[in-house]
Order: sequence, then C-alpha cells, then structure tokens
Amino acid sequence: MNQDVIAVAIDGPAGAGKSTVARAVAQALGFVYVDTGALYRTIGLAVCRRGLDGTDVPGVLAVLPEIQVTLAYQDGAQHVLLDGEDVSDAIRTPQISTYASQVSSVPAVRAYLLDLQRNMARRQSVVMDGRDIGTVILPDAQVKIFLTASPETRAARRFAELKDKGTEPVSYARILEDMKARDALDASRAVAPLKQAPDAVLLDTSEMTLDESIQAVLSIVRRRIKGD
Ligand code: C5P
Repeated sequence: MNQDVIAVAIDGPAGAGKSTVARAVAQALGFVYVDTGALYRTIGLAVCRRGLDGTDVPGVLAVLPEIQVTLAYQDGAQHVLLDGEDVSDAIRTPQISTYASQVSSVPAVRAYLLDLQRNMARRQSVVMDGRDIGTVILPDAQVKIFLTASPETRAARRFAELKDKGTEPVSYARILEDMKARDALDASRAVAPLKQAPDAVLLDTSEMTLDESIQAVLSIVRRRIKGD
C-alpha cells in the first residue's frame, strides 16, 4: 500500500450506522468515502431486473459478464452506475437489500468486485465501509473499526430512517426480522463472512448518538494515525 494514502476500514452488521458515520468521518478528514454495500446492491438490482432469484447461482453467474458496475463522485457524494445508469436510489429498497445479501454470498460476485474496491484505495485516502474490508479487501488498512449496535437499536434506526424518507411503509417488527435474517446470512456465509478483524477496534454504538459515534470513530482514527 502507498505510504502516503490512508485507509480506514469500517465493517459491521446492517444498520449499525456505518454509512452515515463513515461518510461524516471521510468528510471531516478530507478522504473519499466508499460505500461497498452499494456495489452488492447494484448486482442484486441487475439480477432482480432480469426476473431472477437472488439464490439462483447459475443465473447470477450469467449476469456478471453482461453488466458494468462503476462508481462516480459528484460533489463528494458517491453514485453507483449500472451500465451507465445512475441506480443510487433504485438500490435502496428492502427487496434489493435481500437480493444484495443473497448475491454477496456467491464467491464470483465477491471476486468480481474485489479489484474495483482495492483500486479505490490505491491512490487516495479512503474511508471504506462494508463487511469484509478489514479482513479481505484492505487487510493492510492503517485503521480498522468494527462498528456494531444491538439488533433492536439497528432496527429502530432503520425504521426511523425509512419513515423520514417517506418510503414504503414497513413495520418495525418486519425490519427487525429482516435485519436478524441478513445478519445470520452475512455471518454464516462461507466466503468473507462478517467478522471482526483481529486488529480492529470494536465500537458498540447502541448507547451513542450519531454525533457521539462520529466523534468516537474520529478519535480512534486520529490516535491510530498519530501512533504510527
Ligand atoms: O451495507 P449494505 O446494507 O448496503 O449492504 C447490503 C448487503 O451487501 C449486505 O447485507 C451484505 O450482504 C452485502 N455486503 C457484503 N460485503 C460488503 C458490503 C455489503 O457482503 N463489503
């Protein structure tokens, strides 16, 4: 890894606040924020649009060579493109969350997205969030954080977020159920399961406000970078 660039890897379960925290931390540090979940969601969307099931592995494999997934930045915000179409909003539905989780357990999907993610961190400092950033994608990242919160806290946050956005009404109970199912799928898959890297700092944000979580991450990053 280039010594002048710094990589901050933030992994953790769905709804722990990773993306909001990582985005704010990247902005405070002047680093590029990379949301890797958006990449899996985009493949999930491509599979869904072809009328395939997310668990149809041969179907998913057939889709990969036919699509192009690209990241673009506009005013510092990440956009994800599927064959040139900006699908940043289309990938944010509960249905596509499930598709993303399903396709992400296919090893060829993870391999397909590997270089794209590593290349993002090669020439610029990044805050990258996902499930396997500190363990698989950027094992040499200078800072690794495992951000978590109780399933109930995470479901309550997601519920409030969806309500704010005025998107389709989903009950808290349904969100909690989906979240636990996704956690189980992410943690139990054979390739790159969700787990804390041995050298990652564990941060449980169940009792923290968003701002406290951001400050906690920033202070971990600053301590780590100064300590080097
Ligand atoms: O983070 P987000 O909820 O957008 O991710 C959607 C799904 O993509 C996750 O449930 C997970 O299954 C998968 N994912 C992954 N590895 C990553 C990021 C996301 O497997 N680095």
